Amino acid sequence: MPLRVKCPTCRQECVWENNPHRPFCSDRCQLIDLGAWTEERYRIPGRGFEAQFGDEDEEDEKEH
Ligand SMILES: [Zn+2]
Repeated sequence: MPLRVKCPTCRQECVWENNPHRPFCSDRCQLIDLGAWTEERYRIPGRGFEAQFGDEDEEDEKEH
């Protein structure tokens, strides 16, 4: 009996052995998970960078 695991993306059971996309059931689910992870990673520092810029602009205006 082949080892089966649940895909973290769609919760569907898939075969572990000889599966190039494991623990995902397909390349599609693998890309969805990777995309969600990178989106989360870049969204947070991006917001902080914009906030820093805003503060600097306000200080410049006060000096003038
Ligand atoms: Zn899946």
